[in-house]
Amino acid sequence: MRTEHSFLRKDETFECASNGVEPFSQCLSRGELQLVRDQAKILQINVGLLCNQKCRHCHLDAGPGRKEVMSLETMGAVVAFVRRCKFEIADITGGAPELNPHITELIQRLMPLVPQIMLRSNLTAFHDSKGESLMEFCKKNRVGIVASFPSLDLTQLESQRGEGTFEESITVLRRLNALGYGQEDSGLELNLVSNPTGAFLPPRQGQAEKRFRTELKRRWDIVFNHLFTFANAPLGRFRSWLKRSGNYDAYIKKLASHFNPQAVEGLMCRTLVSVSWDGYLYDCDFNLADGLPMDGRKIHVSEMGAPPKEGVPIALSDHCYACAAGAGFT
Ligand code: SF4
Repeated sequence: MRTEHSFLRKDETFECASNGVEPFSQCLSRGELQLVRDQAKILQINVGLLCNQKCRHCHLDAGPGRKEVMSLETMGAVVAFVRRCKFEIADITGGAPELNPHITELIQRLMPLVPQIMLRSNLTAFHDSKGESLMEFCKKNRVGIVASFPSLDLTQLESQRGEGTFEESITVLRRLNALGYGQEDSGLELNLVSNPTGAFLPPRQGQAEKRFRTELKRRWDIVFNHLFTFANAPLGRFRSWLKRSGNYDAYIKKLASHFNPQAVEGLMCRTLVSVSWDGYLYDCDFNLADGLPMDGRKIHVSEMGAPPKEGVPIALSDHCYACAAGAGFT
């Protein structure tokens, strides 16, 4: 268990000590829990921090000005890694992965190697002619879509994602439905992810899914497959907002006070490998955002001959409380 490593992270350890919250690693060891790797099944590919939006909760500080975009060369190394390691799912994320100029080439090269490919979308990045042809391309290649749609309330959603994003998101969801996404028996998966628009925990996933399903159908005749809720990780732009608004300590305390030991077993990092836009490996996108490398050292995907071994400890930090709060983020 990497307790020493996370204790060495002066900034978080100091902060936790200052707001009376014990470091996450200590919380685990006190409960005789370990967070170690299981068989790697999902490769999460972060193709860049470039985004058309500048969301307040973004743990990666992604935005229109970011230059970090995965190159064709790095994509080649990622594809070679997949060929060596046999993942079940390739989960393509960003920033807005739709804006990576090589996105269709990456998907085409992954198709013969991975049974399931998912593309994470903020929806508005699909809201132009280029986006339209990418939606058609995804349909043709049966790429699943995981779309961020945090709230059914226009003001709430736009307070987090920016002006005009609500209507654009609704328009794109309807377009995806028209293409078959989210429709029963179409085989074109459309899942939604919802996160709180402030420093509070998400509602229970089952209840939220029911409400979103009823309201999206009733008000806009929109359908989807599943809805996943998650708590905002205190990283990146969200962390800056928490600090500026004086909510940081209270939010960390809230996450820690809702720590759910049962959630640890199913945490996503146990079966997921995250690769950054420049090809380095992390246990998850949050650790990527925090610069906390897998196994305590920077490993480039081209150096990795096989998936990380089962039983290897996962790099921990106090933002992990966001994943293990309430029902947990699995
Ligand atoms: S942030 Fe979450 S997913 Fe990442 S290592 Fe911590 S618990 Fe695992």
